[in-house]
Amino acid sequence: MSEVINVSKIFGENVFNDSVMRERLPKKVYAQLRKTIEDGKTLDPATADVVAHEMKEWAIEKGATHYTHWFQPLTGTTAEKHDSFITAPDAEGKVLMSFSGKELIKGEPDASSFPSGGLRATFEARGYTAWDTTSPAFVRQDAAGATLCIPTAFCSYTGEALDAKTPILRSTEAVSKQAVRLLKLFGNTTSKKVTPSVGPEQEYFLVDRQKYLKRKDLIFAGRTLFGAMPPKGQEMEDHYFGGIRERIAAFMKELNIELWKLGVSAKTQHNEVAPAQHELAPIYASVNIAVDHNYMVMNVLRKVAERHGLACLLHEKPFAGVNGSGKHNNWSLTTDDGINLLEPGASPHDNIQFLVVLTSILKAVDRHADLLRESAADVGNDHRLGANEAPPAIISIFLGAQLQDVLSQLLSTGEATSSIEGGFLDNGVKGVPNLEKDATDRNRTSPFAFTGNKFEFRMVGSSDSIAAPNVVLNTIVAEALSEACDVLEKAEDFEKAVHDLIKKQAAEHQRIVFNGNGYSEEWVQEAGRRGLPNITSMVDAIPALVTDKSLAMFEKFEVFNQAELYSRAEVLYEIYSKTINIEARTMIDMAGKQIIPSVIKYTTVLAKSINAVKAAADADVSTQVELLNETSDLLAEAKNALAKLTEVTEAGATLEAREQAVHYRDAVKVAMDALRTPVDKLEMIVDKELWPMPSYGDLIFEV
Ligand code: ADP
Ligand code: MG
Repeated sequence: MSEVINVSKIFGENVFNDSVMRERLPKKVYAQLRKTIEDGKTLDPATADVVAHEMKEWAIEKGATHYTHWFQPLTGTTAEKHDSFITAPDAEGKVLMSFSGKELIKGEPDASSFPSGGLRATFEARGYTAWDTTSPAFVRQDAAGATLCIPTAFCSYTGEALDAKTPILRSTEAVSKQAVRLLKLFGNTTSKKVTPSVGPEQEYFLVDRQKYLKRKDLIFAGRTLFGAMPPKGQEMEDHYFGGIRERIAAFMKELNIELWKLGVSAKTQHNEVAPAQHELAPIYASVNIAVDHNYMVMNVLRKVAERHGLACLLHEKPFAGVNGSGKHNNWSLTTDDGINLLEPGASPHDNIQFLVVLTSILKAVDRHADLLRESAADVGNDHRLGANEAPPAIISIFLGAQLQDVLSQLLSTGEATSSIEGGFLDNGVKGVPNLEKDATDRNRTSPFAFTGNKFEFRMVGSSDSIAAPNVVLNTIVAEALSEACDVLEKAEDFEKAVHDLIKKQAAEHQRIVFNGNGYSEEWVQEAGRRGLPNITSMVDAIPALVTDKSLAMFEKFEVFNQAELYSRAEVLYEIYSKTINIEARTMIDMAGKQIIPSVIKYTTVLAKSINAVKAAADADVSTQVELLNETSDLLAEAKNALAKLTEVTEAGATLEAREQAVHYRDAVKVAMDALRTPVDKLEMIVDKELWPMPSYGDLIFEV
């Protein structure tokens, strides 16, 4: 019998959420805090003090000894510096536990150790973290005890954003403002705010921790840099949705409990396509919370894995030749009174407001396909995009049969008069009720698919923050909606103007719509004819951030200024070069210290045995000699490739910014592949006992 888990009781028990605040704060203080949360009003120091005090008391009841401003620097992960609540000892040597409003609202970490892309000179070290009241504080319990975590935004001394959160908050404002403007035109007087809703599906791998620790590549690079394919891969398609093994089930159980306590609504879990690959999806939340929660999910995944003797791999491509991991970013727009602007209703053809929103999104995505592509660019993701397992590196939109039909009507006659209905699915089996059928099938090969009442951006990498893609989505849609409002607000005949606008947007941006197989070579050709960008590497994606088009849009909607955009581009080039540099140096280390010595040992043993056999019986040893020659040739090839890789990696050190990143992509990565090829062949020859690390088979089939 398993113990009963009272989910509704534990859910959010470690979150300083609205109900805790209402219960614990004096009425007036609570009301003032709500004003800050909802309208961004500044919090006066006295109120902040009361909130801080109650937050501390609550956290101490949960065992907290420390607090931290929890922020999201441009490293891709979160950062924190812990302070205990203690005050200086008094005359008797006693301490108190204290936490002031000032400490809650503002932190001052040394910003000079975080990436800033030239926004801040090293001698100007000051940076600030500022409390984001829209994301509730929480207590994290782990081996360190319990820590009160305060979600904060991180900026430089001069106010430039140095993090993932600030632009999320700014872009949420931007899209809300324009969407409310549009709703007003359609007679909506009740909705005051529109917030993007986001549900990110998180894929990950689990491997045995002991085996993980025997692989320097997994430790340093998060992915295998060598490794021959096992005899069995994913060809049987028996892992996807397969039964979950006991060890993994125990892991998932604890994972869910930990996440629920933190208020993360972990909802779905299943085995994914590749062996040892799994997925978790929460119920969607407002974008800011969804971003924070996704960071928490990645963190908890790693911690819980460790407790179960497992290692969680979040890398986009931990094993070459085996499906990698992504993060599907489901996105829609919801009003504060619960209306989803992407809900087509039963008859989308006469849902005029929906068609304005939809065609505005077509326009936004078509115009800024390069930016959207950039937002999913990540060193690990270069292995996935366009590699027949994930969407191609080309952005397109899947609308599905129903909306495509509405669009076609609009384009041919200028008027849409009907909508395809789903009907019923007759399964021909008595006792199994006929199902109501969706009006539209799914398409798993599209990078940006309409899935009923939301768009699913399927390009994002598994290890990446979902902040960047949502910043881009929010802002490009804000821009398109604002342009729609500009036209409609001036219209004398509103009805006519709306129809004309829908038609115009559909006609001008239909090239971005593609309902076919996104993995096919024909699509790559067709997309080329349509003039859609096909950006195959992160290095080539980065410049999209600083085109005139991008600078103008982000400045207009006050999401990024020029300096911030240029700095982000710099940071991304740096991340690219540093990542490849680490991978290259790890390969050099493994090849030089582990693999080549093992192969030499193997050839020595083999040569000795050949001589012994020959001396004793003068037997035919031609097969053994052939094997020895083959091994020696591969060994020579590996040694040469190692020398070459060492040389080009060292050459990269003197370069900077884009030039350096291009060198790492065009010279270093090529040299890495050249070293890997002979080593993977050697792995198939050399005695398993002598091979210095667990194989792919050991890692993904024996978890
Ligand atoms: P799939 O079948 O695509 O794998 P999942 O159930 O794994 O679906 O994930 C779908 C995600 O989309 C969930 O996080 C879900 O909460 C989210 N979602 C559902 N409706 C919306 C919506 N209107 N806006 C944003 N996200 C949504
Ligand atoms: Mg899913």
